[in-house]
Amino acid sequence: MVNLSKLFVKCRVCRVEFWSAIRCNKQHFARLDFGGNQIICPNGHKKRYNMNDFYFKETELSS
Ligand SMILES: [Zn+2]
Repeated sequence: MVNLSKLFVKCRVCRVEFWSAIRCNKQHFARLDFGGNQIICPNGHKKRYNMNDFYFKETELSS
């Protein structure tokens, strides 16, 4: 059973938290590399994010 969780980021410009549109297995997260991904926040800021900018939300239990 693969349990995919949503990866969130916080916009570097407006500080809003939003889903990065990436779903990821928590067990595999440490081995993945999304660094350099360009992501656009809900307010239209397009920025590159590093791996340590991504985080899971523990409230996200269901898909
Ligand atoms: Zn923003």
